[in-house]
Formats: sequence, structure tokens, C-alpha cells
Amino acid sequence: MNAALKSLLPAPSLDADRLALLARLTQGLAPADLYWIAAYSAATAARLPTHAELTVVAQAPAGTSNDPAQRLTIVHGSQTGNSRRLAEQLSASAEAAGLPVRLLRAGAYPLRELAQERHLLVVISSQGDGEPPDDAIGFCEFLLGKRAPKLHQLKFAVLGLGDSSYPKYCAVSRALDARLAELGGRRLVGLGEADVDFEEAASAWSARALDTARQALGESATGAQPGRTLHAVNEAPVRPLHGRASPFAAAVLENQRIVSRDCEREVRHIELSLEGSGLRYEAGDAVGVWPRNPAQLVEQWLAVLKLDGASEVEHDGRRQPLARWLSENRELTRLTRPLVVAQAEAGGHDELRRVLAPGEQAAFSDLLATHQPLDLLRRFPAHWEAAALVAALRPLTPRLYSIASSPALVGSDEVHLTVSVVEYTAHGSAHLGAASAFLAAAGDDTPVPIFIEPNERFRLPTDGSHDVIMIGPGTGVAPFRAFVQERQAIGASGRNWLFFGNRHSRHDFLYQVEWQEALRSGALDRLDLAFSRDTGGRTYVQQRLREHGREVYAWLRDGAHVYVCGDAAHMARDVHEVLLEIAATHGQLPPDEAKAWLAELLQQGRYARDVY
Ligand code: NAP
Repeated sequence: MNAALKSLLPAPSLDADRLALLARLTQGLAPADLYWIAAYSAATAARLPTHAELTVVAQAPAGTSNDPAQRLTIVHGSQTGNSRRLAEQLSASAEAAGLPVRLLRAGAYPLRELAQERHLLVVISSQGDGEPPDDAIGFCEFLLGKRAPKLHQLKFAVLGLGDSSYPKYCAVSRALDARLAELGGRRLVGLGEADVDFEEAASAWSARALDTARQALGESATGAQPGRTLHAVNEAPVRPLHGRASPFAAAVLENQRIVSRDCEREVRHIELSLEGSGLRYEAGDAVGVWPRNPAQLVEQWLAVLKLDGASEVEHDGRRQPLARWLSENRELTRLTRPLVVAQAEAGGHDELRRVLAPGEQAAFSDLLATHQPLDLLRRFPAHWEAAALVAALRPLTPRLYSIASSPALVGSDEVHLTVSVVEYTAHGSAHLGAASAFLAAAGDDTPVPIFIEPNERFRLPTDGSHDVIMIGPGTGVAPFRAFVQERQAIGASGRNWLFFGNRHSRHDFLYQVEWQEALRSGALDRLDLAFSRDTGGRTYVQQRLREHGREVYAWLRDGAHVYVCGDAAHMARDVHEVLLEIAATHGQLPPDEAKAWLAELLQQGRYARDVY
């Protein structure tokens, strides 16, 4: 760079490695390309939500949002992004109403400020067994624990997101709501609960919560001038053109089977074009896919229910043929509690009613695990009118896939996914998963409606000299392909260690050639494998972790970050237990200290999970 120009610029916060990389990247470029990079960087910086969150606090004008009595704090705890999105909408509405707001992730909430908080809204989801999202574990533990302060000045409201098919539905939000009241807080509005199709319930609760918050904040806040609120921080550039509600129709660049012909399950590597979308992503983010239900499934529904797909149905202000409702707008592959209730009532089935009784949770869970809705319709017949059916079925929701590519390596105009196709036979007929079947069949003529779901919790260390340990069996390996690509592209000097497992080394060693090449080139330092069905006994990734426990602990002690991606119900739990075991064995930590050590890693973001 020209020395005179350099002297005019402030000292960068980039380290020497990144500066060298930047110099290499820009060497010899034409002025137009250099300007393009400058504009691209500025646009990327403007879109960073963490940046927005930080600047909300930093730019709060004195006398307004820094004063707890004059400000509304909105905290979100999100695993898949829904609570975050709702909290962002709530924040935007509050700002539009002239309220000084600060919006924070639960993991970024300064706990010592809780005692001073006066107006607090919490939007939080509950995971499978009634657990908080990883990002909110510290927040919940503090609030529910002995150190929580008295909150007699606080006015609050809690909105919980959950899935009513699980026994501990909205357990986290219920516990937080009760605890905030127990500590002396007064409710602005009652606890809100929203099921998987959360939009309607959430927006009704948000409107009420905002209304009462506005009254509670009083005239001083409502009279605040827009210029003195935080408008500028969260405004336009943060919102990309395409999002969950307005997906981008992505062209399919590649759709390829990546397991052997003899493999019992199908896994596909899919490359989608983002060209012209304005969408940007980072390694660690996910793609949300709006699927269409398989055509043969829609036909089966119509046949079983003896309904005409061409009959027009009006619902929620929209009128279209029943077949279209079923294909594009209704959930047909996931059985839910509301549908079981509706079917039991429509058909007068006592056997179904019994399964729904409070003491029958095991039988109910078993029903959900072994039946798709169509199985239920066949086993417990009932008469349905088309309009009643559309009203009873849950709206179709997008499915998230962890991104398997780094924009730094493949370019920001494409995004890669690793998709395991859900396909099995049960109750005498073939069953498909909605999104995986849709993606498997996607090709030149079938663009895929997608959006980017950022995952701020699942990020590589900003300092590339830190080591990373990645644990991703099955398609859980997807984000680690992105991580390794990213670390290679930016020339990160830290070491990369991958634990991968699948059923058979000969059939489903996903991205085998790429990993071998990465080991050769030094992009990957270590690869440990666990193929569960190659030999008699089942070998899983956590066994490899345990075998290398001494080194795993040494890496972590020296600052490594550890990531887990894949199945939440079994694998992630077992890996968590083995990490505790490793801390006890190789760090000589008593059980309580091992737990505290791992909780601290989670809190610091050095232990991150992308599991569901
Ligand atoms: P999978 O069914 O999770 O199986 C992968 C390997 O893990 C198999 O060898 C399996 O062995 C083994 N395994 C089974 N139980 C285990 C346990 N308790 N601990 C450790 N390993 C265990 O593979 P998949 O079909 O590819 O599914 C991946 C999972 O990741 C799904 O739950 C998916 O929802 C989730 N996920 C995927 C993405 C993505 O973007 N694709 C992102 C996040 C999460 P056996 O079958 O031989 O017992």
C-alpha cells in the first residue's frame, strides 16, 4: 500500500497473518475490484447482528437507554433462531413506537445488571427434555440459582417457544416466569406459550407485551424523539432482501450422491447458487429450506380421506385448491400432539384418547416416533371436511441444514449442504422426509426456496492461532467441512482435529477424499474415525475421544475450541459425558469441578454445539 495513504488510516486490529493474507488477496487487483472489495466488506460489517447488539449498548444516549427506568431490555435464548427472530421483531416494533430498547442474546446479557433491570422481556425456547438453548444456560442457571438478586423493581414478561409433543413443553419459560415472580418481579403480561407453529400466538403476545411495556415506561419514553432512540443501529442494512418469510429461489448447481451404491441410506452433497440473492453467510450458519411435500404423499392423503384435491379451500384469508394446501403449506410428515387430539375427536377413538392421557407419556412418545400422520389416518379412520383438515393441520415449517462450505473458499455466491435422505418402510408402506426428499429430487427445473439462518454461537475462534476440535458423526460433519475450508482459506495457524463416524467405512465415509487431501495439505492435522458397523460391537466417536483423552484435555487446557454437531438426543449427550470424564481423568477434576469447567467453556463459546 502507498505509504502516504497508509499513514492516513487508523491502525488495523487485524493480526499479521490476516494482514499478509489481505495483501496477497489484493495484490495486482484493478481499482474497480479494490473498490468492490471495500464495498463488500462494508456491507458485510453492516449486516453483523453481534455488531448491532454491541453498538446498541455502546451508542445508547445518556438519559435514555442507559437508564434502566427508561429502557426496555429484550433478552432472547435461541437454538434454531426462532426466538432470536421474534425478539428482533419485538425490538423493531418497540423502537418504532419510540421506546429505548436494548436487545441482547441471553449469553451476552450482563448478569450483574439484572438487579437494576426495570422492564424486561424474555423470549426463550425449550429443547427436547425441557433444557434451555446452549446460549441461555448461564442466564437460566443464574436466575434459577441462589445468587439471583431480589427484583422488586422489575416488570417483566416471558414468551416461551416449544413443541407440545414433548412432555416438558415450554419448561424453561415456565420456570423463568415463576422465578422472576418469586424474586419480586411483577408481570407486564402473563406467560406466553407458542408451539411449533408459533407465529400467531407469538405475535398476539408480542402486541400485548409491547402495549403494557409502553404504558409501564410512561410518558418520558413514549415521548422520546426518534433521533434519540436506537433506530440507526438496527436499521435497514441488517435486513437482507431474502429471509424466512421471503426465501430466495436458489438454482441447483450440483446434487450428488456421496455414499456407495450399496449403502442402505442415501446421503447427498448439494450445491446451491446464491447469485443475485444478496444473501451472505459465514461458516457455522445454516440454510433454511422451505420444502414441498412429495406429490405421491399428497395423493395418498387425498385417497385415504376421499377428498378432491381440486376443491378450493379458504383459510386465513387465502383461497387455493386443497392439493396445493397439502403440498406447499401443511405439515404432512411430522405427527404432532394437536393432530392426534383432533384425530381422536374426529374419529371418536378411545384408544387414541387414552394415549393422550397425562400418565401415558411413554405410549404417546412411542406413537409419535413410529407414526407419520398418514399412518394415524389409516389406523384410526375419521371423516374430514377439506376446510376442517386445512385448519387442523400445522403449517409447514422450514428445515435447517448446517452449511458445509466456507464462502472464503468456494465464494459467497454458492452454498453447500450435506443431506441425509429420510426414507424407510413402516406400517407396510414407504415413508419419506419432506425436506430431504424435496432436496434429493431438486434439479435444474426445481429451484430451492432458501434463506440463511445465522448461528452466532457456532463460530470459529476469531484468533486463528487457536486450535479446534470438531466432533461430527454422520451428516453432523457438514459444518466442519466449512470450518476446515475456512481455516485453510484464511491461513489460520491453529491446529484442526476432526472426529468423524458413520456406519461403514466402505459405504458412508462422507467426503473421504477431501479429508485425505486435507490431511496431506496440512489443512487438517488429525482425523479420528469410528465406523459403528464395520465390526461386531458399535464403535462411536466418543470412544475415540476417550482413547485420546489426554491430548484432548491438553488441547482444551491450552485454549482449543471444541465443537459438536449432529444428533442431540444421544450422540451429543454421550459426547458431553465423555468430555466430563476426560476432565476428571486427565485434569484430575472432581465431578463438580469438571461440570463447572465444561459449563465455563460453554459460556465462553469455546464449547459450541449445533445439534438437533
Ligand atoms: P446418525 O444417524 O447420527 O449416525 C451417524 C453415526 O453415529 C452412526 O455411525 C451411528 O451409529 C452413530 N451413533 C448412533 N448413536 C450414537 C451415539 N449415542 N453416540 C455417538 N454416535 C452414535 O447419522 P445421520 O443420519 O447422518 O444423522 C445425523 C444427525 O445429525 C441427525 O440427527 C440430524 O438431524 C443431525 N444434524 C444434521 C445436520 C445437517 O446439516 N445435516 C446439522 C445438525 C444436526 P449406529 O447407527 O450404527 O448406531
